Amino acid sequence: MVRESLAGDDRPCPVHGRNVLITGGAGFLGSHLADVLHARGAHVFCLDNFLTGQASNLAGLHAQERLTLLRHDIIDGIPDTLPPFAEIYNLACAASPVHYQADPVSTALVNSVGVLNVVRRAERDGARLFHASTSEVYGDPEIHPQPEHYRGNVNPAGPRSCYDEGKRFAETLLTDFARTRGVTLRIARIFNTYGPRMRPDDGRVVSNFIVQALCGTPLTVYGDGKQTRSFCYVDDLICGLTALMASPTEEGPVNLGNPAECSMEELAALILELTGSRSPVVRLPLPADDPQRRRPDISKAERLLGWRPATSLHDGLISTVAYFDRILRDNPLDALRAAE
Ligand code: NAD
Ligand code: UDP
Repeated sequence: MVRESLAGDDRPCPVHGRNVLITGGAGFLGSHLADVLHARGAHVFCLDNFLTGQASNLAGLHAQERLTLLRHDIIDGIPDTLPPFAEIYNLACAASPVHYQADPVSTALVNSVGVLNVVRRAERDGARLFHASTSEVYGDPEIHPQPEHYRGNVNPAGPRSCYDEGKRFAETLLTDFARTRGVTLRIARIFNTYGPRMRPDDGRVVSNFIVQALCGTPLTVYGDGKQTRSFCYVDDLICGLTALMASPTEEGPVNLGNPAECSMEELAALILELTGSRSPVVRLPLPADDPQRRRPDISKAERLLGWRPATSLHDGLISTVAYFDRILRDNPLDALRAAE
């Protein structure tokens, strides 16, 4: 098991120089990654168009040296004014279905034109490149759990396609750059990850249910609530991500996630219990192409990285509930709007 704290880790920085770029660095995962790389001594450059990210996610680093945060859309390129990078982490792309479907053309473009811009910059700098892919490349899977060699069951022209086909195309483009042009590449297929710094209006199920429970509004279970996901706590995910980036050999995409599977009705019941909320549960229609089951086969990550998640859903939710409780107290009106 690879384990590290989010700050104060004084082991040598895994980067091969001092400058690292995180696209989407003001987002949920990007900001946690920034904390870890900064604590290891890197100068962290974050490019973000603030579509779903917020500068406040990096508040812990603002007063410190070695953080540069720029508002920038990677579809427009990577600014030439930035210094050469030793490592580039490509996380730019809204991850919540609500947000990535709001402007599907932009979502398709960030995963194609944006990724092309990033990999060209990695090639120019000789930078090692990490790309955040997703369990969505498996679509609505026909085999369970999902190993990396499973090729998926994806609708190329549905409401989720801008994201899942976009991420599939990104894997193709990047893998071809690695194969034919020598770019050093690591791809993680990330399964549903949650934790502090998700936005109250993120729209994904964990933040929705917690905000609704804390505000006393109904928990919105889509469909019959029997569909499953496997939820990974953010600290565990970031450990796996940095271990993958530091791994010596390129072995193709690697699943990162927590294999503990749970249905949406079980998740709702657990969040009601942990918050002590008396919110009712309401049923709403299941969105189109919503995957029925999802669980990562993480044997490849265990073998290559010695990594497996350490945080139970129960413990991860306790930290996440405490986070939302604090920010909702500070912004009660925002909270009520998000809970509706
Ligand atoms: P997030 O929405 O919090 O973060 C995405 C960040 O990218 C935001 O800060 C957003 O403003 C920024 N961004 C979006 N488009 C951009 C653009 N064109 N140029 C610059 N910045 C842009 O989501 P997250 O959960 O932190 O996800 C980060 C990455 O991980 C995404 O690529 C996502 O697809 C991937 N991922 C996340 C999960 C998860 O469960 N959290 C699962 C699978 C994959
Ligand atoms: N979901 C739900 N209520 C909500 C939001 C989502 O029941 O308020 C369901 C959604 O239909 C899906 C699951 O929760 O089956 C996970 O949804 P999320 O958007 O978090 O992630 P993804 O579908 O991308 O895995």
